[in-house]
Amino acid sequence: MPHDFTNKTAVVTGGTRGIGRAIAQKLASYGARVCINYRASAELAEQVVAELREAGAEAIAIQTDVSEQEEARRLIKEAEQQLGPIDFLINNAGIFDVVAHDEFDEQLWHQTMKVNVDGVFYCTWAVKDAMVARGYGRIVNIASIAGLEAKPYSIAYATSKAAVVGFTRSLGQALASDNVRVNAVAPGLIDTEILHGVDPALLEQLIELTPAKRIGQVDEVADLVSFLLSDESDFIVGQTMVVSGGRVNLP
Ligand code: NDP
Repeated sequence: MPHDFTNKTAVVTGGTRGIGRAIAQKLASYGARVCINYRASAELAEQVVAELREAGAEAIAIQTDVSEQEEARRLIKEAEQQLGPIDFLINNAGIFDVVAHDEFDEQLWHQTMKVNVDGVFYCTWAVKDAMVARGYGRIVNIASIAGLEAKPYSIAYATSKAAVVGFTRSLGQALASDNVRVNAVAPGLIDTEILHGVDPALLEQLIELTPAKRIGQVDEVADLVSFLLSDESDFIVGQTMVVSGGRVNLP
């Protein structure tokens, strides 16, 4: 087992499918107790919890819309009540759109910011003081390479993910001396339902732009998240690590 997360409690937002589900599975396989969160897909959430329990993990699902502050507080409170103090928070829930600048309006802008930025802030704020008080915590935010380069067809999304990168950088420094480590992962194209709405021709172009010439797999993101949660990455603070098959090179 690459990591031992026995007796650790993790909250993974947006854990019903895609990257969040893979993270929940990976953490459970390393011995963590896992709370997944979802907004609408109750049936999928039940399936994931059943899978995690079958694999021997303690697991629960809590319905909450992370973009509402009270809901985010309730998520953390209920997870703590049922599983114990939270060691790991993975802010994964997110929404994505491909829309030209002259086709999107303030509603898409605000909704994207609410889920992708406010949601990360609310969940983090609900958990960080307890982590600081205990002198231990690990937070990993799922950003995107869209937050690191221009995305003319996903302006709201790219802006929201750039905010996550900035939040991670500043909060990482603020909490490091309390042994609460905050980092982010910026995936490139990963094979999940979030890509189903993307024009296949555009997807082909994006694969062509990827030095590795392929789409990534959810486990490849979950492996990096696990590393950032583990003690092996103890000197990594406030960073955004790219998992993208070579797309986007940070200076
Ligand atoms: P999916 O669309 O497959 O899953 C999104 C998850 O987030 C679902 O579990 C969904 O729950 C949940 N969710 C959405 N909105 C809310 C909300 N308001 N409150 C609570 N939960 C919510 O996404 P991916 O797995 O593809 O992406 C996960 C993260 O990775 C996102 O932040 C995304 O931006 C990022 N990412 C993805 C990439 C990719 O290529 N797939 C590339 C780069 C970054 P429900 O099922 O109930 O709706």
